[in-house]
Amino acid sequence: MKKCWKLRLSRLLLLPLLFITVSTFAQYSKIEKGYYQFPIQPERTNYLAGNMGELRASHFHAGLDIKTNGVEGLNVYAAAEGYVSRIAVSTGGYGNAVYVVHPNGTTTVYAHLQRFNKELAKYVLESQYKQKSFTVNLFPDRGRFKLKKGEVLGYSGNSGSSTGPHLHFEIRDANQEVLDPLRIGFTEIKDKIAPIAERIALKTMDINSRFNGQFGRFEFNLEKRGNEYVITDTIRTAGKIGFEIWAHDKLDGAANKNGVPEIDVYQNRKLLFSQRIDSVNFSLQYNIKSLTNYQAEQETRRRYNKLYIDDGNSLGFYNDMKDRGFFYPQQDSIYLFQILLADAYGNQRRVSFNVKGEKTAPTELTQIDRRNHSYLLDNTLQINRKRKDELNNITVYTQQGSHILEPAYSDGEENVYLVDLNKGLPKTIDFGDDQEEIDFIDMIPSEKEHSYLSNSFSAAFGKNTLFDTLYLKARHYVDEDKKIEVLQIGNEVSALRGIVEIELVPLMQYDTLEQFQAYALSNSGNASFVGGNWSEGKIRFAISSFGNFTLMRDLTPPTIKQRASSNEILYFNIDDELSGIKEYEATINGEWLLMNYDSKRKLIWSETLDKSKPLKGDFALTVTDYAGNKKTLTLKL
Ligand SMILES: [Zn+2]
Repeated sequence: MKKCWKLRLSRLLLLPLLFITVSTFAQYSKIEKGYYQFPIQPERTNYLAGNMGELRASHFHAGLDIKTNGVEGLNVYAAAEGYVSRIAVSTGGYGNAVYVVHPNGTTTVYAHLQRFNKELAKYVLESQYKQKSFTVNLFPDRGRFKLKKGEVLGYSGNSGSSTGPHLHFEIRDANQEVLDPLRIGFTEIKDKIAPIAERIALKTMDINSRFNGQFGRFEFNLEKRGNEYVITDTIRTAGKIGFEIWAHDKLDGAANKNGVPEIDVYQNRKLLFSQRIDSVNFSLQYNIKSLTNYQAEQETRRRYNKLYIDDGNSLGFYNDMKDRGFFYPQQDSIYLFQILLADAYGNQRRVSFNVKGEKTAPTELTQIDRRNHSYLLDNTLQINRKRKDELNNITVYTQQGSHILEPAYSDGEENVYLVDLNKGLPKTIDFGDDQEEIDFIDMIPSEKEHSYLSNSFSAAFGKNTLFDTLYLKARHYVDEDKKIEVLQIGNEVSALRGIVEIELVPLMQYDTLEQFQAYALSNSGNASFVGGNWSEGKIRFAISSFGNFTLMRDLTPPTIKQRASSNEILYFNIDDELSGIKEYEATINGEWLLMNYDSKRKLIWSETLDKSKPLKGDFALTVTDYAGNKKTLTLKL
């Protein structure tokens, strides 16, 4: 707790006008110092591959990823006294995981384990045989497995969706909110390195906003000056503006890029925006797609943290802020912006730049930032066109009627038109010498159920499917070269927070309809199984991201290959080409036999309940794919 106060004090000295948060950190003050011990390699310096709250593609990282020097099998210790409340075995996710409840009400979680301690392993194995399932989710009675602080509960590994050996360690409070273990003050982790800022971005937040006279989103390189970052040029803006930052934190002794838990933005030394990722609620994980700029991430592969609270963001990382972090400059005023990044150890870094308020939309520019021919940003469709000698106005036809649009600005060579989609979906734009069809098929409101219907497909959006209004594009057609039909729906850059239910009437003739299922097509043409149910000649399936979908059938059963095995343990590689492996089952003399599964290595191996008995008799293994194809292998042992 000392560290937080140090941080507060130094910040007080740095910035006299400070808004002190009340609720955050409160839960940390309830935790006794030294209550937890480090769960692996205690009393030695450890290194992190990831920290809590870090921005991942689809979630906030819930714990510490503690490196294990590339090896598995290190002792994992109970961080404090308590009892085992849950043990899970799964092929993905946390893999082998142990949950321990402590007398202070918190729960610690240890994931991606290689194996459990002897007592827990026996219990898990018996439960697997009882349930006839490799994957189990067990909730032992309260008093059954008590652990002393520092007792070995398992061994570190690489199970589940882990991509390299490490221990994933979490501390959750009594409400199952994830806390930041680094705020509890483990001496095993050292961090003297301040966060690192890569770039700043600026976004015009409505049709009348401008940066240097232009509409859009713009990124800025930062210059390092001593210990801080600056943008040397003054940024000129008008209207409602949002800033974004691409930053990470580095800890001592490891190159890994971790998240930045604290970001404050000061406008003329007054707090404009403040974000504290010091606890994460699992039910709000999907909000990551509205805290980061999802569209920019899809377009640039850079994960920016928005420095404003965007539509649909219901996270509690923020204090009450008057303008949700948005900036409204006054004409001819100059503002000093300071962005302060801090990590859990109180290391700070500052980014400074000046912004000058301008009058809205100068008509002539020296040079336009050229982008795609047309570009959608929130509720504005930007269209770039070559400037003509005369008649540069265009006519926008919507379902409701038409309106004439002047160029929003121009540089003499190119015109930029900004079409306000709030005024109705454009159908056709008449440029005078030619016309262009605009292929939005519908406007989907957020926070409301909505269905789009056409002759060959429908798309149903639930109340929570979208963060913000969506301007939907979709096309259902036959790709004559590939001899497949394609439903191209939405734009990959649009974030979904829930699923969209699709119902499709096939365009092509299929002899056996039921064999065909929906697959998602990646940009490189790879198909991944989605599934679907047929009824009355229509297939229904759910999608959780936009893109291209097709109907394909998988008629090839999975493959089984035996590896070097022994009397006690049988090893097999199992694989499936198109739809993927759904399930498998093994028996010995008709009795269910546990096969452990490491999907990363496509490897399964047997484990008998009674280890003293060698495997003898009739062995059978059946592997089933998602399309329902089965492959059976029998052996006489
Ligand atoms: Zn992790």
